[in-house]
Amino acid sequence: MSTTPANFESLGLSAPIMQALKDAGYESPSPIQAEAIPRLQRGIDIVGQAQTGTGKTAAFALPLLDQLDVKRLQPQVLVLTPTRELAIQVAEAFQAYARHIKGFHVIPIYGGQSMGIQLRLLKRGAHVIIGTPGRIMDHLRRKTLSLDAIKSLVLDEADEMLNMGFLEDVEWILEQTPAGRQVALFSATMPKAIRDIAKRHLREPEEVKIKSATTTVPTIEQSYWQVRGVHKLDALTRILETEEFDAVIIFVRTKSETTDLAEKLEARGYAAAALNGDMKQSVREQTVEQLKNSTLDIVVATDVAARGLDVVRVTHVINYDIPYDTEAYVHRIGRTGRAGRKGRAILFVTPKETRMLRMIEKATKQQITRMELPSKEAVANLRLEKFKQKVMGIISNENLDYFGGVIEHMESEHAVDSRDIAAALAFLLQGKQPLNVVEKAVPVKKERSEKIPGREAARESAREPARPRKEFESKRPHAGDKAQPLKKFPDIEMIRYRIEVGKQHGATPKDIVGAIANEADIESQYIGHIKLYEDYSTVDLPEGMPKELFQHLKNVRVRQHKLNISMPHSGQSGAASQSAPSRKKPGGAPNKKPAGSHKHKPAAKKPRSHE
Ligand code: AMP
Repeated sequence: MSTTPANFESLGLSAPIMQALKDAGYESPSPIQAEAIPRLQRGIDIVGQAQTGTGKTAAFALPLLDQLDVKRLQPQVLVLTPTRELAIQVAEAFQAYARHIKGFHVIPIYGGQSMGIQLRLLKRGAHVIIGTPGRIMDHLRRKTLSLDAIKSLVLDEADEMLNMGFLEDVEWILEQTPAGRQVALFSATMPKAIRDIAKRHLREPEEVKIKSATTTVPTIEQSYWQVRGVHKLDALTRILETEEFDAVIIFVRTKSETTDLAEKLEARGYAAAALNGDMKQSVREQTVEQLKNSTLDIVVATDVAARGLDVVRVTHVINYDIPYDTEAYVHRIGRTGRAGRKGRAILFVTPKETRMLRMIEKATKQQITRMELPSKEAVANLRLEKFKQKVMGIISNENLDYFGGVIEHMESEHAVDSRDIAAALAFLLQGKQPLNVVEKAVPVKKERSEKIPGREAARESAREPARPRKEFESKRPHAGDKAQPLKKFPDIEMIRYRIEVGKQHGATPKDIVGAIANEADIESQYIGHIKLYEDYSTVDLPEGMPKELFQHLKNVRVRQHKLNISMPHSGQSGAASQSAPSRKKPGGAPNKKPAGSHKHKPAAKKPRSHE
């Protein structure tokens, strides 16, 4: 495990920040945070070698937020990022960590966004500015941004800024900042040009690095799945359904995620429980004991809680969230392959975390093989096979004379044949868990274009809190049959659907959002514009809805009326479902209505006492 010494309490962060960390479910600082935060608090310049996935954003955001003078509405922190995506992401992180700091304002500023909006926001004022170098320079030249009050400056992903040819601009901006300011430079790699910048513009900087680990245990078979097209939870479910496992430890980053994920797995029929640092020692011990004695099969843990965990029957470790450093990775996968047994480790890697994957491979001197996710068909076939086996097992092992008589009686009494009765019984048996695999649509991103209409408004400022459901209730103009982009996720391609409930049925947008969110398991924030007409309505949903989901939604009811969803103008609500909704990618995953076939254990076995 990483040698992270500190806990957040010992870092002396202010109460509002501590509350935000609690809200986020963070358990302990990542190694880069433990190293960087105390230095930044002491005003020391730092050069941090860290990439995405190490927790570097909080490493600079937390201490710099604490140093702000909130009463003074002037830019006191400037963060330069190579891309607008990162600018937005970092602004959102600042906003989240500052959620309990009253009156706090942050503005992301990047090329491609309308100048008008930026000027308006800058005029309104902010404490923190996050921006791409080119656009920041524009504002400095126009004198629409002043750096006079800047106390700290962060160069995030400096090597990327170098690759993109921004280094001169970065130096120019550095020269415009007050002499006494503190600088934190973060870079995944440290080419000479970056070191030179550090030499020229930083004051006796201290290096902050995450340690690279030793070697891994050779009996562990390691693979990774590149997160794409399928939600992580659905990918996990597919893996759990197809892998032969005895016990599994799933690693996540936050305490809240341990409980969320354990509950979701439990709802899917697994004997799963959380293990995190918030739980009492006695409860943690009890959970580990239950994993040992097979009362539990899956434990969803944070690094801290799983430290030293030694359970021989753990055959699999799944890194649901990538670890912060290679040491954590080595520790995590070492929870399997105990007592000389074979083990399997699976790592989920989002595209942005690829660099972290390479770093792990380098430090462990082992290649991690890329794995393909089992297909939905493979999972469905397996479920069917298990189902058949279950039925055949009963036929061969049980005395069915009495029930045989009941069936014969039904056949003659209701003039139905035994095939239909058997089918109805199979239907009953599967209950809410379908044999086919129903998964949640993964929103498909639009092609990247320089200007994404709607984005500016959506992100007008990271300070504007999301207003999810409410906006559906507001009367907005009907925009023909073209779906409107989501305010919050303007990159997601939306499709306008027609549903057969409207004002005359007493339906409200809230009812519709509720029904779709619950039944299709589409988060309400992905449900777009809803327009009510007399006897029907339209609703905008992310493109890529799987066929099964589309079919399922047809039968969902609002105010007792079936939605009978269709694509407007397709003229054939049924046929549309065969192809239209999944024009690009049939998304992935999943749903609350799960698998009929994996291990079923009584829910009562889950220890709940930690809650
Ligand atoms: P970053 O490397 O800054 O891109 O952060 C990667 C992810 O780790 C983000 O989703 C953060 O919210 C999360 N994260 C950062 N610090 C912590 C922490 N101490 N505990 C749990 N999650 C964290």
